[in-house]
Amino acid sequence: MKPWNIEICDVTLRDGEQTPGVSFSCEEKQIIAGLLDDIGVEVIEAGFPVVSPYEKHCVRTIAGMGLDARICCLARARQDDVEAAIDCSVDMVSIFIATSDLHIKHKYKKPRETVLAQALEAVAFAHDHGLQVRFAAEDASRTDPAFLHEVFVRGSECGADLLSFADTVGCLTPLETLEVFRELVSVVDRPLCAHCHNDMGCATANTITAAAAGAFQLHTTVNGIGERAGNAALEEVLVAVKLKGGVDRYNLSILSKLSRMVAQFSGIMPDKIKPVVGAHAFAHESGIHIAAILEDPATYEYIPPELVGGQRTFILGKHSGKRALEHVVASLGCELSKVQICAVLDRVKRLSEEKCTVTPEVLKRLIKDEREGAS
Ligand code: MN
Repeated sequence: MKPWNIEICDVTLRDGEQTPGVSFSCEEKQIIAGLLDDIGVEVIEAGFPVVSPYEKHCVRTIAGMGLDARICCLARARQDDVEAAIDCSVDMVSIFIATSDLHIKHKYKKPRETVLAQALEAVAFAHDHGLQVRFAAEDASRTDPAFLHEVFVRGSECGADLLSFADTVGCLTPLETLEVFRELVSVVDRPLCAHCHNDMGCATANTITAAAAGAFQLHTTVNGIGERAGNAALEEVLVAVKLKGGVDRYNLSILSKLSRMVAQFSGIMPDKIKPVVGAHAFAHESGIHIAAILEDPATYEYIPPELVGGQRTFILGKHSGKRALEHVVASLGCELSKVQICAVLDRVKRLSEEKCTVTPEVLKRLIKDEREGAS
């Protein structure tokens, strides 16, 4: 199989920061940008300079870090927004217009041809000033396909280097995404970007489906943070890009650390059962599973935890078995007879059924009780 021809544009510092209540400091943005660069992400969207003078300062600072990644920022389709991007010395500007009739009617209150003509002036202006230009169609998934086609073709004629399809409200399924991207790839002459939101829980699925259908630039955020239900998660997309897309060049082992940083800086903790970076992504309780994992982890782990800097954990509870308990007891440096293991296992199960968590401290007490009872 030919590896997917893709690059990653991580938008944690821009779309991710649009998560309600989230604001990163410039120092935090630099730490996140540095780790994204270490992973090998090709483009980092650093912010939206016209939001505030501080935001503009942050974008300029990240553009000056000397990272390998190209630095991008957001701009409305206006000359002053593009000038702000030029002031920040970014490599790429993402110029967006909403293209659906619904958005045009309520946001611009002008005919769509007028909206497009004005946007194309901003695209040409940015192109003439030496910026790489991404021309983004907001709410593309609810846009009249004929108009979207016109937006992309004319954007490309005016100097857009990349054309971005945004499923702004997360209304597509993977099958619909496949159809859309197959069609677009065949009619446009520039690389396509997939920008997917997670309102129906399909953001990652849609992003990797777009990649398989020929999309080039995939937009992600760390931990999937973003407005409403968030964006496609970097860690999920990168695992799929490696295991399904055959792309080997990213350093995934930093993902767990990056996830913790973004959780800390954003105040948004990933769910325990969040794929790849959740506290339980590599946790096992079932005795049947653990006995098999001790033979070969691949039996119950598709993603090796070490690939993403994660750690396998065994949790004791009502589903535990003797082998799991023996393993955990041994890892605490203790030794128990078969009879003692069975007795401790009974108590572990009963505690769990009473909704008590069997922490290592609790287990140590059970072991001690059992030994003292036996002596
Ligand atoms: Mn978005």
